[in-house]
Amino acid sequence: TYVVTDNCIRCKYMDCVEVCPVDCFYEGENMLVIHPDECIDCGVCEPECPAEAIKPDTESGLDKWLEINSKYANTW
Ligand code: SF4
Repeated sequence: TYVVTDNCIRCKYMDCVEVCPVDCFYEGENMLVIHPDECIDCGVCEPECPAEAIKPDTESGLDKWLEINSKYANTW
């Protein structure tokens, strides 16, 4: 899955939402998040984000953000 990270906070630029083929973006309190089970790993959102806030979960150190994305996407 892809994951939205801290650069998105108070940005909410919506280009990522528009390009996602499965509409798996959700609104968190002050950022957008990606539903980890709905994301099909297509990667098209990553270059669309002007804040470079979207990262593949294969990158290290994203545990906290994965948790936040899951939480706000209501997977809990
Ligand atoms: Fe949507 Fe693709 Fe981005 Fe996943 S990687 S959030 S499916 S645009």
